Amino acid sequence: MQYHVNGRLVSAEDASVSVLDRGFRYGDAAFETLRAYGGAVFAWSAHRDRLERTCETLGMADAVPDDLALRIAETLDANDLEDAYVRVSITRGIQPGKLTPRTTVDPTVVVVVDSLPRGGRNGQSVWDDHATVQTVTTRRIPDSAIPVSAKTHNYLNGILARLELRRATTESYHPDEALLRDTDGYIAEGATSNLCFVDNGTLKTPQRGTILPGITREIVLDLAADESFPVETGRYTLDDIRSADEAFLTNTTWELRPVETVDGLDIGGGPITTLLSRLFDDLVEQYYSE
Ligand code: PMP
Repeated sequence: MQYHVNGRLVSAEDASVSVLDRGFRYGDAAFETLRAYGGAVFAWSAHRDRLERTCETLGMADAVPDDLALRIAETLDANDLEDAYVRVSITRGIQPGKLTPRTTVDPTVVVVVDSLPRGGRNGQSVWDDHATVQTVTTRRIPDSAIPVSAKTHNYLNGILARLELRRATTESYHPDEALLRDTDGYIAEGATSNLCFVDNGTLKTPQRGTILPGITREIVLDLAADESFPVETGRYTLDDIRSADEAFLTNTTWELRPVETVDGLDIGGGPITTLLSRLFDDLVEQYYSE
C-alpha cells in the first residue's frame, strides 16, 4: 500500500508523522472520510468544502492544498484502486511551544486509502446488513463547546459512545451503532452517522445544530425532496424514533444503512428506505459510466 504524506507517495511502512505533530499531541487537525467509485471521488466538492470550513474553524483557512484532488487521485492510482475508502487528514503540523497555536501554519497533509468494494450494484452493498442501534448515556458534544460542523480529529465523544456499546454487548445482542442525544435530551446522531426515520410517510431527521452536517444526509434529503416526499427536520425524542415506521443511518462508507432495532425494539427498513437507497445507487452508478 502507498499513502500520500506531505506531497509525496510513500510506502505504508514509511508513512509516519512526527510525535511532535499537533494532530498527535492535541487532536489539532481536520479530516474527511471519502469514497471513490470507479476511480472517482464521490461528492468531492462537498467534501472539499467541509474540509475547508473545518480548517477555517480551526483558524488555518489556507491549510487545504490546491492540489488535494490530484494527491488523492495519485494515491488511488499508486494502489490500483477504483472502489476505495479515502481518508484525508490535515493537522496544524509541528510547532514549538505548547497549546497556543502559532499564527503561521505548515500543515501535515496525509492521504490514506484502502480497498472498499461496493459489493454489488443496484441496491446491494456491503452495508446491507441492518444496524442494531443502542442509545447511550454519553451526550453529543454541544456546538458551544466544539462547533459541530467541524470534522476534527477529536473523536473521543464517539469513541466513548462506542465503548458503551461494548459494555452492552451480550452473546445474543450486538449493538453496532451508538445513538447520542444532545445535552437537552433530543436525538442528535450516531457515533459516525446521521439518523433519518420515517413517520407516517414523512422523512424526519434531527435539524442542524447538534449534528455533524453529513454529506450523505444532505444528498438523501435532496433525493427525497426531488421525489416530492415530505421532509421535516426538527428536534426529536427517543419515543419518536422508537415508534418510527422505518429508520436508516447515513454516512459516506455505509451510504444508507437500514436500522433493524433501536434499544431492542424492531424498526426495520421499508419502502421509503428502499426507494431512497435505489436513488442513491443511481447516483453512484453514474460514477461507473463516466
Ligand atoms: N456524524 C458523525 C459524527 C460522523 O462521524 C459522520 C461520518 N463522517 C457522519 C455524521 C456522516 O457524515 P458523512 O455523510 O459526511 O460521512
